Amino acid sequence: MTAGVRFGFTRWARLAAALVNTAPAPRHGDLLTAPEQLRDLLLAHDEPGTVRITPADLADARAGRTDLAAVFAATGDDARLAARLNDLLGRTARPRLVDHPGGVPLHLHVEAPDANWGGWLTASGAMGLALMIAEHGVEVIGVCAAADCPHGVLRVGPGPARRFCDAACANRTRVAAHRAARRAPGGAT
Ligand SMILES: [Zn+2]
Repeated sequence: MTAGVRFGFTRWARLAAALVNTAPAPRHGDLLTAPEQLRDLLLAHDEPGTVRITPADLADARAGRTDLAAVFAATGDDARLAARLNDLLGRTARPRLVDHPGGVPLHLHVEAPDANWGGWLTASGAMGLALMIAEHGVEVIGVCAAADCPHGVLRVGPGPARRFCDAACANRTRVAAHRAARRAPGGAT
C-alpha cells in the first residue's frame, strides 16, 4: 500500500461504497450495528494505527451511510446526484492541508476539525465520490444491476465497467436470465 493510495481520494470513495453496503439488504442484515464493525471496516481499508470507535462515531457513521446511500441511489439522474453530493459536501466538508507531527507529509483532510470517525467517513467519502466523478465521469458510481441488490458499485480500474457488486450477484443474475430464456416461448423446455 503506497502513501498515495492511503491518503488518496480513491480510497475515500471505496470507503464510501463499503459504508453504504453495510445497510440492510435482502442478502444480509445491518452490518453496522456495533463499534467493532466500524473499526473493522476502517482497518480493512488500510486505516493505519489503532482505531477506537465510540457510540457517537457509530451513530454519525450510520447517519453518513444514509446520506451517501442517497447519492448512489441517484445515479442515472446527474442533476439529482450532483445536488445530493453538493448538499452533503456543503454540510460536512472543510478541505485543508494538514501536517501531522512525525514526518507525515502534507496531505488533504476533508472533514471538519472536530469531526469524529463517522464525520470523517462521511466528509471524506463524499469528497472521494465527487473527485472520482470529476476525474472519470458520472458512470464511475452506480448501483448493483442484480434485481434484488441495493449495493453501491464503484467502477474504478481497468477492464469493462462493473455492473454487479460481486460475483454472487453476477452469477445469480446470469442464472435467472438463463432460466427466463428457457421458459420463454420458443426456448428449450
Ligand atoms: Zn449486488
